[in-house]
Amino acid sequence: MRFSSRIVKPPFEKRSIDLQVTRGCSHNKCKFCNYYSNVYFEISSDNEIIADLKELEKKKVSYHRVWLHSADSFTLDCEKLYGISKMIREHLPYVNSIGCYARVDSLNNKTTKQLEELKNHGFNSIVFGVESCDDYLLKQMNKGYTSKDINKQLSKMDKANLQYTIIFLNGLGGHGYGLSHAIKTAELFNGLNPERIMINRLRVHENSRLYNDIENKEFKEAGEKECINELIAFIDKLEIDTFIDATNNSNIIPFFGKTSTKKSIINKLNIELKNL
Ligand code: SF4
Repeated sequence: MRFSSRIVKPPFEKRSIDLQVTRGCSHNKCKFCNYYSNVYFEISSDNEIIADLKELEKKKVSYHRVWLHSADSFTLDCEKLYGISKMIREHLPYVNSIGCYARVDSLNNKTTKQLEELKNHGFNSIVFGVESCDDYLLKQMNKGYTSKDINKQLSKMDKANLQYTIIFLNGLGGHGYGLSHAIKTAELFNGLNPERIMINRLRVHENSRLYNDIENKEFKEAGEKECINELIAFIDKLEIDTFIDATNNSNIIPFFGKTSTKKSIINKLNIELKNL
């Protein structure tokens, strides 16, 4: 199998089959991220994809879902994605769904009708690294889109009834900016219909531009207590019926639950907060 950039996928996808269809990230400019800093974005040729699928065919892997790599494979145009789905069905006929990471602007080149078609081709549970819906923060972190874009583009997923997860990046605002980040993000998420909200805690990696900002005293990380208070404010503001998943290991306090049980999640966080 050919993986020419870092393999990253959500923990709940650990049993899906990995297949590279792009390399690196088409954006590669988020201030806090160094995952693909030395890698150019590239699209795999059909021949490369078929070679990997033939290898998987021989291995007789029996999982029913494929996870496309790397950072934002959903950015590919619809014709390429339909083609990938067709190749997967030809070589791994037992696969019944396809997922991948996406950016908000991965939807710029897709209409609602095309998203419905992608659903018919097996795409579902696409994971969007939204991180925040606070415009100041989106600009500061160089995410490359605005809150208006988030609302416009993700509403197309809702209209197409194509399931998706959105990521909230806890701590992204740094010291003193958590509440605005939490409230604005929850308010916008309340107008959407994601199947899950995934919580990641900001971990600043060396060699990222945000790390340099910390060194230069231009950004101060939020402390653990501040991050938990931000998370409580975020969850408290959520009104939609969805899952909240904070089980990945970046989180200080792991938890998983429905928004309908948010009171007990907040109680748990408050108890942990007192113990810190
Ligand atoms: S956070 Fe995601 S979109 Fe931003 S540079 Fe990293 S991989 Fe690309």
